[in-house]
Amino acid sequence: MAQPGILDNPAQYLMGVGPKRAQLLARLGLETVGDLVHHLPRAWEDRSPTPPGRGVPPDAPLVLRGRVVDSFTRRAGPHLMLLVARMLVPEHGEVEAVWFKRPSRRYDVFQGLTKDLARGTDLWLVGRGEAGLLKVRRIDVDEHYRVDDPRSAWHVGGLVPRYPTTEGLPERWLRETIGRALEEAAGSIAEVLPPELLERRELLARPQALKAVHRPRSAGELEEGRRRLAYDEFLLLGLAWALKHKQLRQVDKGYGYEVKRSLLTPFKATLGFELTRAQKRVINEIFEDMRRPHPMTRLLQGDVGSGKTVVALASLLLAVENGRQGALMAPTEILADQHLWTVRQFLGDLPVRVELLTSSVSKARRARVLERVADGSVDIVIGTHALLEGAVRFKRLALAVIDEQHRFGVRQRTTLRQKGPAMDLLLMTATPIPRTLALALYGDLDASTLDEMPPGRVPIVTEHAPEERALEAVRREVARGRQAYVVYPIIEESARLDLKAATAEFERLRAGPFAGLRTALVHGRLPGPKKVAAMEEFAAGTWDVLVATQVIEVGVDVPNATVMVVQNADRFGLASLHQLRGRIGRGHDAGRCFLVCDPKSEAARRRVQVLCETTDGFRIGEEDLKIRGPGEALGTAQHGELGLEAADLSRDSDLLGSAREDAEGLLSADPDLLEARHAGLRARLVGRYQKLWQSIDLA
Ligand code: ADP
Ligand code: MG
Repeated sequence: MAQPGILDNPAQYLMGVGPKRAQLLARLGLETVGDLVHHLPRAWEDRSPTPPGRGVPPDAPLVLRGRVVDSFTRRAGPHLMLLVARMLVPEHGEVEAVWFKRPSRRYDVFQGLTKDLARGTDLWLVGRGEAGLLKVRRIDVDEHYRVDDPRSAWHVGGLVPRYPTTEGLPERWLRETIGRALEEAAGSIAEVLPPELLERRELLARPQALKAVHRPRSAGELEEGRRRLAYDEFLLLGLAWALKHKQLRQVDKGYGYEVKRSLLTPFKATLGFELTRAQKRVINEIFEDMRRPHPMTRLLQGDVGSGKTVVALASLLLAVENGRQGALMAPTEILADQHLWTVRQFLGDLPVRVELLTSSVSKARRARVLERVADGSVDIVIGTHALLEGAVRFKRLALAVIDEQHRFGVRQRTTLRQKGPAMDLLLMTATPIPRTLALALYGDLDASTLDEMPPGRVPIVTEHAPEERALEAVRREVARGRQAYVVYPIIEESARLDLKAATAEFERLRAGPFAGLRTALVHGRLPGPKKVAAMEEFAAGTWDVLVATQVIEVGVDVPNATVMVVQNADRFGLASLHQLRGRIGRGHDAGRCFLVCDPKSEAARRRVQVLCETTDGFRIGEEDLKIRGPGEALGTAQHGELGLEAADLSRDSDLLGSAREDAEGLLSADPDLLEARHAGLRARLVGRYQKLWQSIDLA
């Protein structure tokens, strides 16, 4: 029987964990025995013996169990030593097993290994071999285990967990250490769910579930264990959201809103267009919400080009009309600057003081803006992440709008919210997500949808075309006085090379196909002011063609631009392409988008095809979820912050639904989870979310 409290023991308590390894474990956030028990596998590998005749699937290892006949070493060059064992493997016959090592004069590199290779020893081998052969003839060994070692079953023979690890911590060691932690602590892992829930949802008990994921005996058992842990994650998330929303509902703003129309009416008059019916409806929904006594958290969904900015501005003006401040946060400098420009245009001569706060605003100016934000003499601040900094303090912030909110994480939303404890929050996105996922991401949040485009839009025509044809279209449109974008992808993994390539391409286009056109280049590495200047010049018509990277992906609004050429379009994700394409077709002229690429994978071909078929953001969002799965599609930042490890949003939406129902049930019986029988659940909730969502007050 393990003693209680063992889960809190430091990892060093376990056999085989010395101070050095303990330090490395800490780097993974694993400090206690309990942390190890809860360090879930990232994947499971099928390591049952490879049968003859099937060949090895490309992403699976070759696994053999055999008996050593004899072994010898062989030098295979100045930097390589081989150790070769002839093995007898049932069903395969004689197999040559090969270990590779760098030779060393100082010690026997195969020390330890040779003693495992005594004639007659039974071994498990995990490695790589030639795929497709009827019988395995040779295996390059990555790992081997003695069959007479009882722990070999942790590493080979069936489904084996793969753990995220760090340099200096061999996965094999980690697997064994987690195995030990699990054995030692088995009796101390507490159940946190009430028994009636376990029964109703037919869930495995917690200790068993942990055992099933760390040491699955079958695929069925593994799935049962994983689902139990996924359910826990969803339940905790559901409870956390519910408590947070409840807390917000208890906050009283302490002021009321009146629709005074002193700004709103003249604003509508200077717009130069009628609001769409959808915009009017959504603005009403938001106003109603803002006039309630407790803070608003509302999601505004509307496809690219549906006119979200005007809605945001109307909402900000309601706050300003009532003597309060507003903030508008965007994910990129270019977009923030664009918003500033648009807002100033829409506001005309109205007495509204608007300022910009991004990292490229000069120090002196920033200091002045900060001061004026703090003393209340700025009405609306537009900015980037720079708004989240501690130095940004508002006198009476009442509404924050987050544009392209899927680019931000929960943590950032929370930080912004803390700048005005009772303020309203409007989250805008063009990437629609299914209701279940929205629940996971925001809890039960109110949503408004712009389901109508401003009138007169001509749908963009998209084609997968050869470059020459695309560049020809650019020249033709420019000859008609129109403007064009040529976009090159820059992906993080190869950012430097990509940027170099884009710059070279810019030179090539300017010298050749676009000779005589006024062509400019803008990319993310340009200093902020230069970037912004290039965009402003493009908007003002100084340039015919803008060669750009994805910095223009969101928000940029230049109605005179009618053509877009996306180079290497197969390297962009579907959502990115849809956003990019939304930069054109913003006026009354038909926009044309050319995808120039030679897609290599099936997924890339599918993306290109979807883009050519539809401009409907909702359909594209759905396809994106299908192709990439929700974890990816929603952005890993959000996924990680939500604490979803065992849960898989694409497979477990049924669980998400039941967990949410159960969270509500629990809270209606015990609104603050204060009852003794919920103590375990509450402790886990605090442990998981308190730090992340500072504003959930569970203490
Ligand atoms: P998004 O929803 O993608 O943020 P924007 O707010 O940038 O869209 O609006 C796209 C374009 O449509 C802008 O040029 C904007 O001025 C224009 N627009 C917005 N609402 C209307 C409307 N009711 N009638 C005509 N044009 C509009
Ligand atoms: Mg926008």
